[in-house]
Amino acid sequence: MTASFDLVVRGDLVLPEGISRDSWVAVTDEKIVAIGQGEPPAAKALADHRGRYVFPGLVDGHMHTGSAVGFPGIEGATLSAAAGGVTTVCDMPYDIPKPITNATIFKEKVEAVHKLAHVDVALYATITKHDGVGEIAALADAGACSFKLSTYEYDPVRFPRIDHPTMIQAFAEIAKTGLMVGVHNEDEELVMQLTAQAKAEGKTDPIMHCRTRPPLAESMANLEIFEIGMETGAHAHLAHSSIARGFEQAAQYRAEGGLASGETCIQYLCMTEEDVVRLEGFGKCNPPFRTADEVERVWEALENGDIAYVSTDHAPWQREKKVNKGDIFAVGAGLTGMQTFAPLMFSLLVERGLPVEFMARYCAERPARFHGLYPKKGAIRLGCDGDFCVIEPGDFVFDEATIQDRPDARWSPWHGRAMKGRVAATILRGLPIFDGTTVSAKPGSGQFVPRQHRETYTGGEF
Ligand SMILES: [Zn+2]
Repeated sequence: MTASFDLVVRGDLVLPEGISRDSWVAVTDEKIVAIGQGEPPAAKALADHRGRYVFPGLVDGHMHTGSAVGFPGIEGATLSAAAGGVTTVCDMPYDIPKPITNATIFKEKVEAVHKLAHVDVALYATITKHDGVGEIAALADAGACSFKLSTYEYDPVRFPRIDHPTMIQAFAEIAKTGLMVGVHNEDEELVMQLTAQAKAEGKTDPIMHCRTRPPLAESMANLEIFEIGMETGAHAHLAHSSIARGFEQAAQYRAEGGLASGETCIQYLCMTEEDVVRLEGFGKCNPPFRTADEVERVWEALENGDIAYVSTDHAPWQREKKVNKGDIFAVGAGLTGMQTFAPLMFSLLVERGLPVEFMARYCAERPARFHGLYPKKGAIRLGCDGDFCVIEPGDFVFDEATIQDRPDARWSPWHGRAMKGRVAATILRGLPIFDGTTVSAKPGSGQFVPRQHRETYTGGEF
């Protein structure tokens, strides 16, 4: 018999319906064309991962390649993704010097992706602080996966706060496109007032980062977002919720017929306020880490199916920007998390005795569905792209020196953490791109993935 498949991957497959032990999946012309159990069929290449889990390639629904260094950041962030078992990233639009606010800039970024990316990339779009609503339809037509707006201003150009009247107009336009609008959800007035007060009192130690961005800053912003979603018919999505309350709010609006959802980031499933004290600037992100009790409540929300998906909010700032020099407010906000995403999620599930299938669901299938990338991306299923993340179970320790990104981005809040597994291989559209040690993908191995359709997905069983 002649080898009919390009590649067969053998191992314990994590399929949508559950784990299929000692099984195989065959890829031809980049697509999954056959799945079976036992002895694998002939193929031009065999990736034998018996005893390991073969997950779908992870889909990171929220990350930032370009906040620190602009489009060139795509190269290192996607290299890190390849080494982390992440085969598709949904990149945020807040790039320097030009955020993705019109179709011309969007197309420039698509070209940069084709030149620089090591894994596949879907792209968010946004609007300018003023007079940008008219660009929304063209951005959707250019293939944006989703839109991103903010209730809080980091920078008037790169990451502006969108005022209420503009937010309402933007949601109404986005509703016509069928795309989701993810919103950074923190009440600016409250955060600014608490921060000014803390500074005036000379309280600038790390815990004040948490105290000046309380849970109420999130839940108030959530109401604004969901109310505008209800009014306009847009799919309103919390770009991150660090608190279970956010998922309760989303569920209430869904129960009333709204298109409402929220994601969490992996740090809100394991980090606490004590970690900000320990890590100082390297534990600073927005929203901040919460209490250990809140972490438990977020897990409950995940187990109840109330969370859209789990993302990283990966933001590879220069190490220098994360060093606390006595004023936590002067430190840049954002964590690296791309290369720890798969081993950490796997470890958290194992440590909690939860099904490892949750990683396939919440870190691949559901983000792909929310961003309109499914069924091309997100699952080990006939017709999907042959994207895989192979996890070798065992006892490992994460070392930030293994991060494959720019040298100044090789830091991690999980440096030294014990892990219950490691990424043993990454396969992108049938091509092995990481062997557990070395990334063989090159800049340009990755492709831009346009949104595949305009249907809305807000969760539920499938
Ligand atoms: Zn973010």
